Parts: sequence; structure tokens; C-alpha cells
Amino acid sequence: MASESSIDAAAPKAEVVTRFAPSPTGYLHIGGARTALFNWLYARHHGGRTLLRIEDTDRKRSTQDAIDAIIDGLAWLGLDYDAPPVFQSDRAERHAEVAWQLLEAGHAYKCFATSEELEAMREEQRANKKPLRYDGRWRDRDPSEAPEGVPFTIRIKAPKGGETTIQDRVQGAVTVRNEEIDDYIILRADGTPTYMLAVVVDDHDMGVTHVIRGDDHLNNAFRQLPIIRAMNAIEGNWPDPVYAHIPLIHGSDGAKLSKRHGALGVEAYRDEFGILPEALFNYLLRLGWGHGDREEITREEATQLFDLDGVGKSPSRFDLKKLENLNGHYLREADDARLAALVATRIGEDADEALLTRAMPVLKLRAKNLNELVEGAAFLFAKRPLGMTEKAAALLEGEARTILRSLCNALAAQNDWTSEALEATTKALAEEQGLGLGKLAQPMRAALTGTTTSPGIFDVLVLLGRDEALARLNAQAA
Ligand code: GLU
Repeated sequence: MASESSIDAAAPKAEVVTRFAPSPTGYLHIGGARTALFNWLYARHHGGRTLLRIEDTDRKRSTQDAIDAIIDGLAWLGLDYDAPPVFQSDRAERHAEVAWQLLEAGHAYKCFATSEELEAMREEQRANKKPLRYDGRWRDRDPSEAPEGVPFTIRIKAPKGGETTIQDRVQGAVTVRNEEIDDYIILRADGTPTYMLAVVVDDHDMGVTHVIRGDDHLNNAFRQLPIIRAMNAIEGNWPDPVYAHIPLIHGSDGAKLSKRHGALGVEAYRDEFGILPEALFNYLLRLGWGHGDREEITREEATQLFDLDGVGKSPSRFDLKKLENLNGHYLREADDARLAALVATRIGEDADEALLTRAMPVLKLRAKNLNELVEGAAFLFAKRPLGMTEKAAALLEGEARTILRSLCNALAAQNDWTSEALEATTKALAEEQGLGLGKLAQPMRAALTGTTTSPGIFDVLVLLGRDEALARLNAQAA
């Protein structure tokens, strides 16, 4: 799990430095991807730097698979970072160093309370319906009173009395009474740092100026500030970061987003739903951020337009339909050869990428995702005798096969195999036989594709090519 991770302390401090700090205990889910996107955009918009920190201190729950999935997912979305990822677990010694610095300067203290003692304290608080908080029993006690050989933790001295206000860029001014923040542990008895300490030290050392993250971390900000301010008192140059706590994403029913709502990893949107990265990028951008009522915003425009002022305060709702509609838009914008390559991988060895590229302009007209493109392209690679859907088979009953026979003869005589010429021939035949065009087109579609939906029938004829098209028609003609 550990890998090279260094922090270049000598790097000049850019004006804006943001970071995405995922815990690799699961894949990169929609909420995390949006947090990453906002951090990336904020830095890019302001000409700053954006960094990635893998918060892998929970060694039991962090996995290499999750780290890989997060890094892949970010790269797929086109979110690049200005330095190699920092792995929090590599930095435990540095975190501990800060804890000891705080202790020596009197901003933190050793706590010798045993776990039994602390449990009894909480039991009493519970019985008195008091909030469960460490009561500061070692805050002003001399460590010489400590029992011999008892391990200690290091606790931060949180401010007593008064209140703390954060000017959050999304939530506005948020105030908490300091009595609500207890003297929590920054260094455990085994010498390992707690999460709260690690985040603060890493943000400082990475030069982070703006902390943009989910609003489930707003409470943490009030706990992290005492460390920041104590270190600033000791060293200077530990300014409060600018905070922006963005509302969480809810499902379309308004409840917090869960697996049930499609809170999947981004790779599921890529692999299972066949979404393009630019569509997910645009969708995530619009999920909680707005610029007038514009829906379609490219990456370049987003970089120009994004700022925290446009981030709303209320939770946004995830809507797969909207994502798919946007995806349809981006499919139509996308380069045909690129789509052909994506579709070819999905189809496998039967696929012909050059043919797919030629077919793409008509295939992508209605598709909302890559799966629909694959379905739409299936007729191109179908082998004779063609399988028929039930509906297609029904279209080939009765006089349809006789109609196909005359159609075969007419088309075989047409040397100009273009959609205009083929259309003219078919229309002439319809007129001659006193039939509506649909009477010819429907069995033709069934015979050529084995289905009842396809691109325009004359495009189908052209894409299949003269020999294959005539062979398919002949196979169904009486
Ligand atoms: N690692 C935390 C998470 O994944 C984020 C911490 C932070 O942004 O400060 O929720």
C-alpha cells in the first residue's frame, strides 16, 4: 500500500492549493468524485494547484484495490494532480512530531486515564443524559501524579468558554460553543496519530489553502481548528484554511444516497452503464453547482466558470435519467472513431472497428449510453441465418415475403449503392405496387436486422454493403 510519497516543502506556495483526501475503504463513489471535481475545478479556475492525499491510516479497512479504483476513476474523469499522491500512512512520524511539539508548548497534555475509567465517566454522562465528552480530568493535573507505568495518550487543549465561528464558503457563518469541543486524543497510547491530527498536519505540510469537502466533515473543522491555531501560536505560518463544506448528495427520493440509489463506484458508471467521462464530469458539476440554468457545460467552460459562490446549500438529488440524457448529448458530440473503439471492446472479436466508425453517425443519433450503441450495432455483425425477435418474425408473415422478393430484384438491379439511390428504387417499387413505403420498409428491416428498430433502413442497406444486404433479403424472400 505504501508508495513513494513526498511533500516538497520547498515548493513555492501557490495562492490556491486544494486537495482531495479520500479514505480508500471503498471505491470512488459519486459523492467522492464530486468532491474531487470541485477541488480540481476550484484550483484550475484560480490558477492554483490541486493535490491528492490517500487517507489510508485505517489499515484494516484500506485496500490496494480501493486505492487503484480511486486513482483510476480520477484519471478516467480527467482529474489530474500537480504532485504524486501523498499516502497518509507514510507520515505517522511527522504527525507524532507535531503532537509532541504541541505537548511541549503546553497546547496539549498527557492523559493517564485508563479505558475503564473513561468508560465509567461516559456511563455517568449517559445516566445524567449529558453529552459524552472527555471531562478534561488530566488537563490541569501534574503528570507526576500519574500512576507508575500507566500508558498515556496526548490530548489537545481545546479552547474553553466562548465560541468558534467558521466563515464557510458554502454554509456561511457557522458557530459552535467551545464547550461542545472536548480535549480529544491526538496521539494514542501506542504512539500512533489520530485521524484528526493527521488531516491537519498533512493539510499544512501540503500547503493546502482551501479545504473543500462533504458537509459531514463540518463538525470536524471545529475540532481541527484548535490544533491549527495552537501550531500557529507556536510556529506562525499555520493559517486557518478557507473551508467549503458541500452538501451531500441524496437519491431521487430525497433520502441520503445509498447503493439502492445507484451510489456506485464511478467504474460502474463507466463499465455497467456505459457513461462517457465527459458526461459524468458535466453531471457531477451540475450536481450542487449551477450557472444560470445551463445544463451542458464542457470541461473548458467549467474551468472558466466554476467558483464556490455557485455551490448551493441544500443537498442535490442524484438522477440517473438526467445523467443518461447528458450522456446522450455527449455521445452525439463524441468522435466516431473513439466511440467505435469503445463499442468494439464491448462487442469483442466479432467487431469491425472501421465499419463501426462508418455506422456511428447513425447509431449514435438516439443512444443514451454505450450499451445502447452495442445493441444498435449488433445487426452489423449478425451472422446468417439471422436470429429474429418475435416482433420481427411477425413482420415477415403473409405477403411480406413476396414483397421482399420483388424488392430483392429491384435492389439487385440498382448499381448505385447509396442511400439516395436505394431510397429512390424502393419508393418507385412501392408506387408501382400501390403500397405505402412502410409495407416495404418493415419486412426489410426485419430481414436485414432481425429486429424492428434500427437506424434508417437505407443507411442499414449501405452499411451492410450490397452483398450482405441482398443475401439477408434473399434469405427471407419467398
Ligand atoms: N478522508 C476523509 C473522507 O474520505 C476526508 C477528509 C477531509 O476531506 O478532510 O471522508
